[in-house]
Amino acid sequence: MRTSVVIIGAGHAGLAMSRCLAARSMDHVVLERGEVANSWK
Ligand SMILES: Cc1cc2nc3c(=O)[nH]c(=O)nc-3n(C[C@H](O)[C@H](O)[C@H](O)COP(=O)(O)OP(=O)(O)OC[C@H]3O[C@@H](n4cnc5c(N)ncnc54)[C@H](O)[C@@H]3O)c2cc1C
Repeated sequence: MRTSVVIIGAGHAGLAMSRCLAARSMDHVVLERGEVANSWK
């Protein structure tokens, strides 16, 4: 798999960054060691 951006962590910051990249049509992947929203769900 090839991608331009790797985001480490699907917390607030990671999910917000993913949303911003998606709005700009920038390919990326979010890696989360636990679950999405792991620390605050
Ligand atoms: C019990 C509790 C209740 C809270 N309640 C509220 C609330 O009601 N309202 C509010 O605004 N804030 C609340 N907060 C604070 C809020 O959770 C944090 O401010 C916010 O989560 C910070 O976001 P972040 O993306 O910076 O970090 P995090 O949410 O911590 O996200 C980081 C993510 O990265 C992942 N990660 C870390 N290292 C790696 C790695 N090496 N590889 C892969 N993944 C990795 C973690 O598993 C985590 O999911 C609460 C916090 C706690 C602990």
